[in-house]
Amino acid sequence: MTQAVFNFCAGPAMLPASVMKQAQAEMLDWQGQGVSVMEMSHRSKPYMQMAAEAEQDLRDLMAIPSNYKVLFLHGGGRGQFAGIPLNLSRSADSADYLLSGQWSRGALAEGEKYLHCKVAGEPNLIDGKVALPPQSALNINPDAAYFHYCPNETIEGVEFSYIPDAGHVPVVADMSSTILSQPLDVSRFGVIYAGAQKNIGPSGLSVVIVREDLIGNARQETPSILDYGLAVKHDSMYNTPPTYAWYLAGLVFKWLKSNGGLTEMAKVNRAKADTLYRFIDGSDFYRNNVDDNCRSKMNVPFQLADDNLDSKFLELSDAAGLKALKGHRIVGGMRASIYNAMPLSGVQALVDFMADFEKKFG
Ligand SMILES: *Cc1c(COP(=O)(O)O)cnc(C)c1O
Repeated sequence: MTQAVFNFCAGPAMLPASVMKQAQAEMLDWQGQGVSVMEMSHRSKPYMQMAAEAEQDLRDLMAIPSNYKVLFLHGGGRGQFAGIPLNLSRSADSADYLLSGQWSRGALAEGEKYLHCKVAGEPNLIDGKVALPPQSALNINPDAAYFHYCPNETIEGVEFSYIPDAGHVPVVADMSSTILSQPLDVSRFGVIYAGAQKNIGPSGLSVVIVREDLIGNARQETPSILDYGLAVKHDSMYNTPPTYAWYLAGLVFKWLKSNGGLTEMAKVNRAKADTLYRFIDGSDFYRNNVDDNCRSKMNVPFQLADDNLDSKFLELSDAAGLKALKGHRIVGGMRASIYNAMPLSGVQALVDFMADFEKKFG
């Protein structure tokens, strides 16, 4: 028997095994069509049906209110770094950006090309650990065109435990690495967007959930493929959508539905994160540098007591079937990304390996 492999890659990340098997089984002949779903027109009846069903499944999963549109667009997460200012502001406007790590910084840098961006808050240190600002520390400008933040920073492994309140200013959230990981009150947001390759499906697709009153005001120079109004008018098929990614996302949504939806995901994700953090906190050999209240349930960075052992750790974990644990260079050390598709048994295997490694080298 080949050994089990658990893939901890931050993105593109692992997908549920049953989804991959179904995709494999129908790769060459989708729904008796005699061709692959990736070889057929996005305007054909079976494809359009599948696409509409995927949207409905996502609406059901997230309980998306009827005054929100769901768009399936190109360009991943970063595409929306430009899409947001172009659709939601004029160049004379200003917008608030809450900084929490690399991705929100990236969004700010892109936003600055299009309008004046103000920093609404930044992380600080509590007892030497990275902490996110509480609502009371946020500097929100009531005249801002929008308020942008990243609920879960994939690189630093920090996650907001609350949804910021920006009054009547629309809250825009980059949920690339946290969407679908737990139930969410969508009505608190103006726009939610996510690159697909962490918790939705393959890369290339971005899902945008946008409140209706924010649609139809794109700047004149907005590239057509980023224009929410055009996307709505054409059911996300103004140009050829990333058809295969959309199809796979649809399979993932069905997998989520048949596994208890987001309530069940939240339970499993909580159990996975608790297992890993508890082990790290109980060890003198491993550490995590994030304040307890801001720890990510999706991305867990950790460091070894001696970073000279990093390469040994990576070599041996890889050989043990625990893949892609190398941390982002900004943070150093390791990072275990444990999105929806990662089973608890994968986290348990990682913890067992870590205990064993500590015994040998600690
Ligand atoms: C991965 C990621 C992105 C970037 O997505 P791309 O599809 O590569 O543009 C943006 N934001 C967050 C939070 C991410 O995790």
